[in-house]
Amino acid sequence: MEAEIIEKTIKALEKNNFEVFFAQNRDEAREVFFNTIFPEIKPTCVSWGDSMTMKATGVLEEIEKRADCVFIQTLGDHYTAAQKTYWRRKALEADLFLSGTNALTQQGQLVNADMIGNRVAGMIFGPKHVVLFIGVNKITANIEEAIQRIRTVAAPLNAIRHTNLRTPCQKTNTCMDCQSPDRLCNTWVITEKSFPAKRVKIILINEPLGL
Ligand code: SF4
Repeated sequence: MEAEIIEKTIKALEKNNFEVFFAQNRDEAREVFFNTIFPEIKPTCVSWGDSMTMKATGVLEEIEKRADCVFIQTLGDHYTAAQKTYWRRKALEADLFLSGTNALTQQGQLVNADMIGNRVAGMIFGPKHVVLFIGVNKITANIEEAIQRIRTVAAPLNAIRHTNLRTPCQKTNTCMDCQSPDRLCNTWVITEKSFPAKRVKIILINEPLGL
């Protein structure tokens, strides 16, 4: 991604009241999170919404080991469906919610599609603080391109990695606007601004990460 586009996107995000940190790679993103953001927030309870980018930084493993906060795990084959729902509700009461985004526009907007809704819910309301880990490959020219990116890249790839789901895009690699009971794109959310200001912090990572 060109440096001018990254700079333009950061300025737009800041104008939209997001707090932005720029990291050259996933290791630097992890350092920014633990050395700068975490000591400032001092969370006692942390939760997350599924994000391949955040997983790539290794922050979850470090948080799970910490003695100064509780980590709410919302995923896992050891959970029953009822337990997953319980912990996903509890995740909205955490001090800090971590995730990524499906797309980020050069106008500083976040665009996300969600199957269940717990990921976008935590981004919108509940936890006092939100930190999103975002690779520069998620930057799009505008909202239309962001939606297109989700329909042709993020959602089909996400469907493919969930082998227990059945959607047509797993075979076509593009959105068929399906009627599948396993449809991943049930709720679409555009976040225009952070409210309150700086509630949503973004670590923009200068490498392609996530779906
Ligand atoms: S609506 Fe269905 S076909 Fe389209 S990307 Fe989502 S899951 Fe795939």
